[in-house]
Amino acid sequence: EREEIEREIADLEEAVPSITQDYKLIDRLGTGTFSSVYKALDLGYHEKWDNGVWHGLHPAASSAHYQSLPRQPGTKVFVAVKRIYVTSNPERIRNEISILETCRGARHVSQLITAFRQDDQVVAIMPYLPHEDFRLFYRTLPIAGIRTYFRCMFRALRDIHARGIIHRDVKPANFLFDPHRGVGTLVDLGLACRMGMDPPVHYGKCLHTGPTREHAHGRIRRAAEYNSDFVKRKQKDARMRSGWTSDRVGYLEKDTRPQSKANRAGTRGFRAPEVLLKCNEQTGAIDVWSAGMILLFFLSGKFPLFQSNDDVEALLELACIIGRRKMEITATLHSRTFTTNIPSITQEGKPWREFVETLNPKLREQPESALGPNPYSLNEASSGGGSYAPPPPSSSPGADTAIRETRLASPHVDDVQDHETGVEQALDLLERLLHPESIKRITPRQALYHPFLRESEG
Ligand code: ADP
Ligand code: MG
Repeated sequence: EREEIEREIADLEEAVPSITQDYKLIDRLGTGTFSSVYKALDLGYHEKWDNGVWHGLHPAASSAHYQSLPRQPGTKVFVAVKRIYVTSNPERIRNEISILETCRGARHVSQLITAFRQDDQVVAIMPYLPHEDFRLFYRTLPIAGIRTYFRCMFRALRDIHARGIIHRDVKPANFLFDPHRGVGTLVDLGLACRMGMDPPVHYGKCLHTGPTREHAHGRIRRAAEYNSDFVKRKQKDARMRSGWTSDRVGYLEKDTRPQSKANRAGTRGFRAPEVLLKCNEQTGAIDVWSAGMILLFFLSGKFPLFQSNDDVEALLELACIIGRRKMEITATLHSRTFTTNIPSITQEGKPWREFVETLNPKLREQPESALGPNPYSLNEASSGGGSYAPPPPSSSPGADTAIRETRLASPHVDDVQDHETGVEQALDLLERLLHPESIKRITPRQALYHPFLRESEG
């Protein structure tokens, strides 16, 4: 595999030679349908500074990013280099860069350092974000860590929604979390769109991004122009190379890749009911739903959970949990009807809490790993302690006393109470995140004030 990575790196360096002036590519971080992401060493970034003014090669570079870095010679600074494939729709590339530009300055959201192109290649440079694979920590992260995860997540969503952006592909692979430092960042704005704009009618079609309000905004207009030349000249080229016919739909028909990958307006298992119902007025609430799905993975200890092949199947999976009545109400909200003759779909369904408890009977037990040194306990004890409801009075029978005392005597007593209270609060939040009616779903701002995430005033 290392050989393959070396080959890819050599290929990228050949395609975009100017990259080697500034960056030394060292590893591959991820590969998707529309891009590959590499880790690179930022060569001599500090040398490009003169009296606090950036003198790098790319005037579009975010000086804010560089200003935040230590400027001692010898400091190693890593970046993520996202190579967006030429087979990707040029309009999609323009959209991603333009939206990253709009998100500049939003904490917990991936930041564009610079973007450049060489012929038909587009490369975006972003700060490197140390993180761990979700599958390695979602079953063992202590409740305080889950709290930290979602504080970062909802700050990110609150801030992009305030800028009129919907992410549309919130999932663990697009939220990079470092469980050791408790830092999470929302990445991959490749599918993001601006609220109030026509969402794509069909998932297979490319993003519709016609003239929009933000074109009036100078900085964003420049970002758009940055690529428009390239778009016009290379669109034809790219189409010929990738086998595009007259439009994206034609391309997809010929596409031999798995449908779930090509079909990227959201990822299966993460689509909100209103997306599944093909509602035309989608809002930031779809991101909140996807975040709710992630909380469901944490609490149920199962990931992935929903594996439906199409939207109708996904609606049925959902109906099996929330029941016929709620599905009907939700469908009506979006001027759709929901009917089914499947007998296992009950009228009232069950609350998410109950679903979680079925999947994870050990939900309320303190996970083993959490009894070890907890990187969050310091953090949370000082910032979150005051907001918890008092722990429920102990009703343990005698046999349990010894265990209780041991725990009480141990330094982890806070963790134990934290776990019990935290799980209850998280289950309550889950219900509000996964409200099938988008208009009743909690907003990111409200979620940050929910008892599970609220930070104490004092
Ligand atoms: P795609 O559009 O192909 O999904 P992403 O932007 O989601 O591209 O990146 C793909 C993967 O690359 C991510 O899931 C993550 O593992 C890794 N990655 C992306 N950006 C960074 C970054 N800034 N730092 C570290 N790893 C990253
Ligand atoms: Mg991604």
